[in-house]
Amino acid sequence: MGLPHVLAVPYPAQGHVIPIMEVCHCLVDQGFKVTFVNTEFNHKRLLAALSEESTMEHIVLVSVPDGLGPGDDRNDLGSLTESLMKVMPRCLEELIEKSNETEDPMTCMLVDETMGWALEVGRKKGLRSAAYWPGCAQMLATKLSIPELVSRGVIDGYGKLISEHEPFQLGPGMPFIDEPHLIWNLIGDGSDGRTKEIVFNNIVHNNRFIDVAEFILCNSFKEIEEPTFRYNPKILPIGPLFTGLRPSRAVGHFWPEDAACLSWLDEQQPGSVVYVAFGSFTIFDRLQFQEFALGLEATGRPFLWVVRSDLTDSSADVYPDGFKERVGDRGRIVAWAPQQKVLAHPSVACFVSHCGWNSIMEGVKNGKLFLCWPYFGDHFLDQIYICDDWKVGLRLTPDESGIVKREQVKSKVEELLSNEEMRTRASMLKENARQNTNEGGASLENLKIFMNAFKA
Ligand code: UDP
Repeated sequence: MGLPHVLAVPYPAQGHVIPIMEVCHCLVDQGFKVTFVNTEFNHKRLLAALSEESTMEHIVLVSVPDGLGPGDDRNDLGSLTESLMKVMPRCLEELIEKSNETEDPMTCMLVDETMGWALEVGRKKGLRSAAYWPGCAQMLATKLSIPELVSRGVIDGYGKLISEHEPFQLGPGMPFIDEPHLIWNLIGDGSDGRTKEIVFNNIVHNNRFIDVAEFILCNSFKEIEEPTFRYNPKILPIGPLFTGLRPSRAVGHFWPEDAACLSWLDEQQPGSVVYVAFGSFTIFDRLQFQEFALGLEATGRPFLWVVRSDLTDSSADVYPDGFKERVGDRGRIVAWAPQQKVLAHPSVACFVSHCGWNSIMEGVKNGKLFLCWPYFGDHFLDQIYICDDWKVGLRLTPDESGIVKREQVKSKVEELLSNEEMRTRASMLKENARQNTNEGGASLENLKIFMNAFKA
């Protein structure tokens, strides 16, 4: 018999490809072969961003079309989601059929829960499957409970919160369902104003297939979401994932990482640097970008700031006049950082973050404090976890004019870094995280249960 062979199918977004790639590295270490499917658009980006040392042993990268045209906006999640559902099922079937003619035919699938319909493709082709959810478990539990939320009158049949609904908790200890739980309403409107509707319908559609998955994995750990894991024990935490910290293993970045910033971090005092990164989607308007830059300058602290080439809505040089000269070597600006290594660096004191779940797990795992600036989707729920439940961060809040002013950036950084209680809690979370992923830890055991089952 050949090797157990996984077909890995991430949703085509950075925050989905990176963690699923990490789970694939774990599978490879257990003797699996992996076929990793990207869309053609992301496949090209990923190959172009691979560093020379990165290896993908036993991971075969393949690509399929996403159904969009060359100039279409792939950050428009509504049209992307809709298009994938039309073109991808047949492509996946073909990949599975082709593998049946080889020595190591595919035996199982690891499917992004965001594309739950792919579980049905696997079922039809006789593959076993697991779903991977890249956000917090609470958000997934909410999505899977849409029929109950509708029947209890919390939301209507289109996913809108009914204003006079009775307070409702999914399970004991879980929060009352409110706007931040309804990810589909927080995702923007897209060019045709249909994004919410498409995303909601996609979730409802995907929910129909979740029972096909033998396991539902997520990048979380017991202590931070215990009521949710009690409420839905099928959701298995396997985190925090070890993403980005394996020497010479490819992370799955879409942009080439600027590794030189690690040497710059080496030169800074321990616990001194403000690290700023807003993930792969966030966009700033020029005014807010400049105000934030002046806020960073005003902190007087060293900072490492990820400014993606598409972070602002302007193509011109958007920095405030003289900003770069004034901050000099105190401020390091990179287009894409090896974030997981940055957050593991002792010079980093805190993380100004958009609250993407991967970023949060990477910060929590390293005991960092957060300044939260959510952008869309699940970020608002993640912010509640950080600021209200775990109490390891503070909010940056726009004022009446919709802007986060420089004075607030400066004062919140100071408030955060002088808060000893928060620092103690962040260290406790780091220790919980470590115990979960060490030998005998609950997350590692869950990962082993899944891998052993699929190896059999
Ligand atoms: N990331 C990175 N370098 C950067 C910025 C982000 O490697 O400069 C990674 C980050 O470590 C995380 C992913 O990109 O694993 C972003 O996922 P997240 O869920 O935080 O946010 P999203 O991009 O989905 O909004």
